[in-house]
Amino acid sequence: MKEEGVKILNEKDSISDEIANLIKIAREATNSAYAPYSNFYVGAAALLEDGTIVKGSNFENASYPLCLCAERVALASIHSQYPGAIVKMMAVTARNPSQKTNEPIAPCGACRQVLLEYEQKQKEEIKIIMFGEEGNVAVCKSAASLLPMAFDHSFLSK
Ligand SMILES: [Zn+2]
Repeated sequence: MKEEGVKILNEKDSISDEIANLIKIAREATNSAYAPYSNFYVGAAALLEDGTIVKGSNFENASYPLCLCAERVALASIHSQYPGAIVKMMAVTARNPSQKTNEPIAPCGACRQVLLEYEQKQKEEIKIIMFGEEGNVAVCKSAASLLPMAFDHSFLSK
């Protein structure tokens, strides 16, 4: 991964307690994933400005296009339960019982777009922390840096 604005941390790098805790909670969130079709259990944990942590997990459907990603489940939950809350960072991970994940798990394109919308709405960057069951942790400074040349509100005239 060589994207601009993404830092890769390995075992030698120290991780703040705040990030370590968010990683632990994102891992826990994979346990509530409903993923009978992909077998890819995704967990997300978002840290709000007041210290609240909101979890999300993927929620699949037999009608595949209706599947919801963990990141968007977390953001929708924040939007409805904590209107106006500022999201400081989000940790994302996944586990796959048939093949251990050992690379940072990056949000899909749809989630990047939704994270960017949330980031622009709150006018503060959302740090994205990505990791698998083992291996390196990737830290991205903002949703915007995960989605270059994004389509956003600036294209829509009023
Ligand atoms: Zn997604």
